[in-house]
Amino acid sequence: MSSESSIHTRLQHLGTAPCDAQHPVAPVGLPSIRTSTVRFNTVEDLEKTYRRKNGGERLVTYGRMGMETHAALEDVFCALEGGQRAFLASSGLGAISMALLSLLSAGDHLLAADCVYGPVYHLSNTVLGRMGIEATFTSAKDVQALAKHVKPNTKILYVEAPGSLLMEMLDMPALAAFAKEHGLILVTDNTWGSGYAYQPLALGADVSIVAGTKYVAGHSDLMLGAVIANDPALIKTIDTNQYAMGFSVSADDAWLAIRGVRTLPVRMQQHARNALDVCQWLAQQPAVRQIFHPAWPDDAGHVLWKRDCTGSNGLLSVALDMSPAQVRAFVNALTLFGIGYSWGGYESLVQWVDTGFLRNHAYFGKLADTAVQVVRLHIGLEAVEDVIADLQQAMQKAL
Ligand SMILES: *Cc1c(COP(=O)(O)O)cnc(C)c1O
Repeated sequence: MSSESSIHTRLQHLGTAPCDAQHPVAPVGLPSIRTSTVRFNTVEDLEKTYRRKNGGERLVTYGRMGMETHAALEDVFCALEGGQRAFLASSGLGAISMALLSLLSAGDHLLAADCVYGPVYHLSNTVLGRMGIEATFTSAKDVQALAKHVKPNTKILYVEAPGSLLMEMLDMPALAAFAKEHGLILVTDNTWGSGYAYQPLALGADVSIVAGTKYVAGHSDLMLGAVIANDPALIKTIDTNQYAMGFSVSADDAWLAIRGVRTLPVRMQQHARNALDVCQWLAQQPAVRQIFHPAWPDDAGHVLWKRDCTGSNGLLSVALDMSPAQVRAFVNALTLFGIGYSWGGYESLVQWVDTGFLRNHAYFGKLADTAVQVVRLHIGLEAVEDVIADLQQAMQKAL
């Protein structure tokens, strides 16, 4: 298998156990190698391992860095994202912290898109603020308009595309050019694309972050994050700092994620097909004011999505002409949709979005002045006609 092979092929062959002259009889999958301690046969072996490790090789001297199971999962993230090196964290938010705490210092300024994952605001208001790192959250839709927020101490441009909650597409190549012009590191959350539907490193981003919890794992049964980069200097900085901070992932979770990711392409394609069918149905409902899903032709980000993405997924938001009481009844009446915050698993989920929070988002635009309610739907792998029937009966009950 070459690195030129399709990602569909590579995901079936990465992270398998070696079967060769040395291992003529072998299982297909790598085991979950659970260990804290790594043993060395001789002092010389220990010294040699450290020398090679200090030279930049991924060699393990202690279990926290993870054994072959973890290394295989790192290879998976590199293949997905088109990166040279991936660092694992025990959650997606942990990966965001790893990247920001590795790359920012006291006195630095973080410029962030207003559409990023909500807890990033919290990270900024707590830990980063306390460390003397100032942040500005603003719309990144108009790239040139970001210039007025760049300060002499701005270090990172942090974005997410499509954005959380309203799936706002951003112009990643333009953001990359802007970051380069202003000497900023472009860090992006790519959980939406998870390396399959979108590859921001190829579009010029410096660092990509994926919550493996979502589509990579795909089964709502583990927490995982990854930070992926290409530039050797950035990789060295992240390597040093993640080691210092002690990020670590359970071997069993790494193993489960490898198992889950084999089917990432087929799952994401089906989620995407189902979501488009749901959009089609939603678009005919009088109570539906606006659909937020970049693969939907009427979405404001559709042109950018067509240009930059290679696929889509099951996530969409919808603005409803409903009162809070009506939307409450709608969400409660759904039977196939769990009420929950996550997404990327096999199952359908619904989240009633806090419109108070959305009012800060430039992208909410005209809707901010009206009484709409917003729900985010994750369309799972159920038969889509059943999903639509469920939405229909719930909407009838609510209205
Ligand atoms: C869920 C999510 C995260 C955080 O992942 P966890 O594993 O839940 O910490 C980060 N970014 C985005 C866009 C997410 O949806």
